[in-house]
Amino acid sequence: MIENTFGINIVPENDTKRIDALRRYRITDTPAEDSFDGIARLATQIFNVPISLLSLVDAESVFFKANIGMGNAKEANRGKSLCALAILDHEVTVFEDALKEPCLMSNPNVMGDFGLRFYAGAPLITHDGFLIGTLCIIDKKTREFSESDRKILEGLAATAMEQIELRRSSLDKIDELKKSNLQLTNTELDLKSAIEELAAINEEMEATNEELHTANENVSKSYDLTVVLNKNLQNSELRLKSFISKAPIAFGILTGEDLAIEVANDMILKIWGKDKRILGKPIEEALPELKGQPYIPILENVFKTGITYVGDSAHVKLESEGDLKDCYFDFIYEPLKNNEGETVAIIVIANEVTDRILKKQEMEVLNKQMEIALHAGQLGSYNLNLITGEISSSDQCKANYGLTNDSKLDFDDLMHIVVPEYREVLNEKINLSIKNNTPLHAEYLVKWPDESLHWINAAGLPNYDEHGNATHIIGVTVDITKRKNYETQKDDFLSIASHELKTPITSLKASIQLLSRLKDKPTHEMIPKLIDQSAKSLEKLSTLVDELLNLNRLSGGNLELKKEVFTVSEMLDACCDDIRIAGKHHLLLKGDLEATIFADLQRIDQVVVNFVNNAVKYAPLSEEIHLIVEKLEDCVKVSVKDFGDGIDSQIQPFLFDRYYRANHNGKKYSGLGLGLYISSEIIKRHGGEIGVESRVGEGSSFWFTIPSI
Ligand code: ADP
Repeated sequence: MIENTFGINIVPENDTKRIDALRRYRITDTPAEDSFDGIARLATQIFNVPISLLSLVDAESVFFKANIGMGNAKEANRGKSLCALAILDHEVTVFEDALKEPCLMSNPNVMGDFGLRFYAGAPLITHDGFLIGTLCIIDKKTREFSESDRKILEGLAATAMEQIELRRSSLDKIDELKKSNLQLTNTELDLKSAIEELAAINEEMEATNEELHTANENVSKSYDLTVVLNKNLQNSELRLKSFISKAPIAFGILTGEDLAIEVANDMILKIWGKDKRILGKPIEEALPELKGQPYIPILENVFKTGITYVGDSAHVKLESEGDLKDCYFDFIYEPLKNNEGETVAIIVIANEVTDRILKKQEMEVLNKQMEIALHAGQLGSYNLNLITGEISSSDQCKANYGLTNDSKLDFDDLMHIVVPEYREVLNEKINLSIKNNTPLHAEYLVKWPDESLHWINAAGLPNYDEHGNATHIIGVTVDITKRKNYETQKDDFLSIASHELKTPITSLKASIQLLSRLKDKPTHEMIPKLIDQSAKSLEKLSTLVDELLNLNRLSGGNLELKKEVFTVSEMLDACCDDIRIAGKHHLLLKGDLEATIFADLQRIDQVVVNFVNNAVKYAPLSEEIHLIVEKLEDCVKVSVKDFGDGIDSQIQPFLFDRYYRANHNGKKYSGLGLGLYISSEIIKRHGGEIGVESRVGEGSSFWFTIPSI
């Protein structure tokens, strides 16, 4: 910014253009140069002043290109430098006594310590008339400045300006030189790359030349090779012929419409059961056994249509040592065509696969047998992939888990079906079997999708790859729920049986101990009671032992029936004397009293006694017990009806099962759960039926039928 101290306008109207003119010279802010220093020094010497400056007045500052006597000062503010005034006028600006100049009264150079008193500045005028600076002289004392002094200063300024112009034209020259230098360099570079391109083209041409040369050589070599190949071809043809004739595959060529055998190698002759004499004959004539088989029509069709025919495991009857033998072949009938595309011959290539097919058929039979065996044993087969966890399983295997045939079953699904308590055990058993390469045997409980629980027995064997890593477990599963339930029932039965046996034994033991104490008092009133008690206990024991014996006979299939004809009512009349005598229940005989049956009297009596005893035991309040005989169309039906509590319809189907005993609202009845089972076995062996009709609160009617004679 200009700090104007002069109190007058120091910026001429054309200042912008003037500054542009100054900048053309590229002289401001450049280092001192001897030529300009020399002019300034000359000025100090000519005018005998201490200071002379060559100033260039820029927009805001005055730059000293030459400075003699002002120390190191390089520039001054335009508003303080007197040179700013000197460029306002084309004439030399002179202040002989600065203190007398009103415009310098605020100038620090004049009024300050520096103490400027004299100033004379001649403008530096460019060739086109701009005042760009001054050559000035300065003194700290007043001086006079004559007209000739002015002329001299003007002359020096003009010299300085000439020097500036010269400097500028040198700079321009240098620039031009630089420019042309650059152009030269570019041209040189262009030349260089052109030369390089030429060299590359040259190289390519050389390579092409070489290639041509090699190609030439190859052509001549190829010719030699063709000659060798021709020879080889002849040899190969010979070798091919001998190879075909000895090849381990059946090969033949049939030519012409009549399919004459032109070529037949040893193998095809062997299969056909013929020798070389068939060569040249039409196939129909050479192999008359093919008549009635589909192959000659197929060959004729291949000849006619030119379309290849492929046979896969085809069944052919061929002659072998006088007999027709069943053979199987994979074969191909390939048409051979002339240049016009017409079929002229058929190549026959065949591979006998009889052994493979027979093995396959054998395997299929074995597989079928296996399937039947698995089905019969309700065994499901599975293959568990130990790497992916996938299980490929038979329908039965899925059925064992309560799944349909199309259900997905992999290891995770299986674990989900297995009841949680058995999962870890199953996993451990699988791992152990893999680790020790031992058969897997596991029994575990599963929950079917319908929520029912089933026991599964799984067996399997681990398989390993060549590195000894287990890959699969293959095996079978079976639903063993019935067996498991039976085992549980059996265990329950044993504990009930021992308990049941123990009660009469304890009571018998007690009676006998008392009797032994009273043996010296034979008239003691307790003795008859004790004997009675012992007899009852013995009776009970004998009934239990009878039931057990019956059970044993039944399960061993040793129940022999001694059949006879008898009147049912008579049998009913004679049974259950003890109950009649006890008098608590009335046994009423009803129905067809004449009806007779052909059966084992003892066993049928046993069934009726069992029904009546049950009625007494489970319907104690039923005063009447009806024994009813009915003669039906093809059988006689006997029912024992009580009027007790009746039986819930839900448990009725199980009453005849082995060891089954119902719960009677917390009431405890002794028994082994065998009576009705034994009864049903006896009736079944007679070819009859057994059942119950009962309603809760209305009593029960146990019945059986015996077929009429
Ligand atoms: P046990 O009497 O030794 O328990 P059974 O095979 O004779 O064995 O009878 C099986 C079950 O049938 C009995 O436990 C009982 O719950 C039921 N039952 C048999 N007869 C009757 C009946 N007349 N009334 C009610 N329940 C009966």
